[in-house]
Amino acid sequence: MRKHLYAAMTHEEVNEAVLEQRVVLIPVGQLETHGPHLPIDVDAVQVTYVCEEAARRTPEDLLAAPPIYYAFSEHVMDFPGTIAIRPTVLIEYLFDIGHSFARQGFKRLVLVNGHGSNRSICEVATRMITNHTSAMCATLDHWNLAREKLAEIRESPVGGTAHACEFETSEYMYLRPDLVRYDRIQDEFAPDYHPWRSDDFAGGGLVHFMEFWSQRSKSGAEGAPSLATPEKGRQLLEATIEALIAFGRWWKALSLPPRVDHRISGRDRV
Ligand SMILES: [Zn+2]
Repeated sequence: MRKHLYAAMTHEEVNEAVLEQRVVLIPVGQLETHGPHLPIDVDAVQVTYVCEEAARRTPEDLLAAPPIYYAFSEHVMDFPGTIAIRPTVLIEYLFDIGHSFARQGFKRLVLVNGHGSNRSICEVATRMITNHTSAMCATLDHWNLAREKLAEIRESPVGGTAHACEFETSEYMYLRPDLVRYDRIQDEFAPDYHPWRSDDFAGGGLVHFMEFWSQRSKSGAEGAPSLATPEKGRQLLEATIEALIAFGRWWKALSLPPRVDHRISGRDRV
């Protein structure tokens, strides 16, 4: 029987997974405030679950690496709980992880991101892994995989699914109901909401703002967690897992043509 968790494999089983060219899902989470009603590990818990569950269902194609719990949140340091890794350090750290998987022989990697502020970092690390190793890397934000399901089942207006919101609270209620502080749930919408802003999981404005979180949120949350339910969480997670499996299988099977050097003297390239 195939194992779906990388850390649980023996070294011989790692070689078997390489021979099968399984796609490596690397969950990238974070520890930071998710309001007074959710633990600080929401981003790590959600992204680890979807990666592990996708790999558990399709171990012939996917495997789940251990999650990264510490990432980029300097802008959330005003709230208790944040552990912030400097972005350049995180890029290098992610690169070393991808580089090591490549050196084991894996060819297809995915940085599955669970924290909005990691996005640009994951993109740079993905480029570096692809540019400088024998593997190809891709990256995605897990909540985007549930975008259609969210549009179908959400009850909040735009801005209601931003942070520790209808979306995240629903998923956490499903995954760890015993850790939710139901008595502390409160809605909070950004006071200066404007269509320019990109502050909803469904998409939104064209501009990314980089203010400190305490300049924007009083509670640490943003959105409408009062509309969260475990059943919505189950449906959102299920949609994410299905899409992750579909993507992983496609990514595993995709064959790209070789690079073509069009330079007149490009023999020194790496
Ligand atoms: Zn979150």
